Amino acid sequence: MNTRTRHLALAALLGASPLAAQQSTTPAIVKRILSGLADDSMQGRGTGTPGGQRAATMIAAEMKRIGLEPMGDSGYFQRVPIVQGDSVKAYRRERVRDPKDSTKMIVRVDSSVFTWRVPLRVLASMAAYDSAPAARHRPAVNVVGVIRGSDPALKAEHILIDAHYDHLGMRTPAVAGGDSVYNGADDDASGVTAVLEIARQIRQGAAPRRTIVFAATIGEEVGLLGTNWYVAHPALPLAEMAANLEIEMIDRPDSLAGGSGRAWLTGYERSTMGDMLAANGVPIGPDKRPDQQFFQRSDNIAFARRGIVAHTLSTFNLHTDYHQVSDDVSKADFVHMAGVINAAAKAARLLSDGPKPEWKPGGKP
Ligand SMILES: [Zn+2]
Repeated sequence: MNTRTRHLALAALLGASPLAAQQSTTPAIVKRILSGLADDSMQGRGTGTPGGQRAATMIAAEMKRIGLEPMGDSGYFQRVPIVQGDSVKAYRRERVRDPKDSTKMIVRVDSSVFTWRVPLRVLASMAAYDSAPAARHRPAVNVVGVIRGSDPALKAEHILIDAHYDHLGMRTPAVAGGDSVYNGADDDASGVTAVLEIARQIRQGAAPRRTIVFAATIGEEVGLLGTNWYVAHPALPLAEMAANLEIEMIDRPDSLAGGSGRAWLTGYERSTMGDMLAANGVPIGPDKRPDQQFFQRSDNIAFARRGIVAHTLSTFNLHTDYHQVSDDVSKADFVHMAGVINAAAKAARLLSDGPKPEWKPGGKP
């Protein structure tokens, strides 16, 4: 029996006991999950690709192991009817100095180099998907599991803890001898790792007062496709969603947030969520880079626009590996990540068991 197996056996025993305490995550657990999701075999988790489906399968297996109730239309999978759109020929453009007037910049179109940009889109229904040509089908799923609330007065309400698991796929054409996989360790395998570890901790502790939905969404990088589908087809009614906490890019510390184990909330000042967490000692502060508009740049915005108090927790420090093949597990700081995930688990517990957060005046987008 190796250390890992012993740990699992212990966790299983604790999980079975009614007196089980919420077991914190550790750098070792975080490393195992992140390394799996961001492995080269996942081929960059592109939306509608076999690598993306492989990642969904791994996430569903983790949800099962944790003991979440499946809430998709096919076990933990919520199928999203994504098809390939028409191919478009695109020429590479670059800004160069005007040869006739060196004070001016012009856009030069290189007619010898072109790429095929293949837009993906979501159809209106699974029936429309089934009747679309099979060659255009791009199998894609959200992965959704639930822990039911225990409080008679609050269990009809729920909170959503989510992260997107898709990333940019493979670089084409492959660079000879170079890295071709957009592993997306930080973006956003780190957030999915957090969703799973928060779920495990809450499952092993006392039942939450409100119900908690845990979701890993597809298609964020290509236009929030999975989240928009979820908004139209929620596992539980959106009218009963008390809050949404999304997790994006937490695998490296951000010095502006205070370094290791500390995170920030996008749009912190817009609602009472941040103050509520801070008042309870959760090391989460305001976003120090509001000019980046992060509040509008991730899945949370789809829920916020529906009136639900929805924020993204992050520690993105504007590193240059963003959307590059170099966003690898080797760059992850597991001690930091474990610290942030433990803080996020406390945040989830406060949202499930505490007062419902509210928009501040003018904060609702
Ligand atoms: Zn992302």
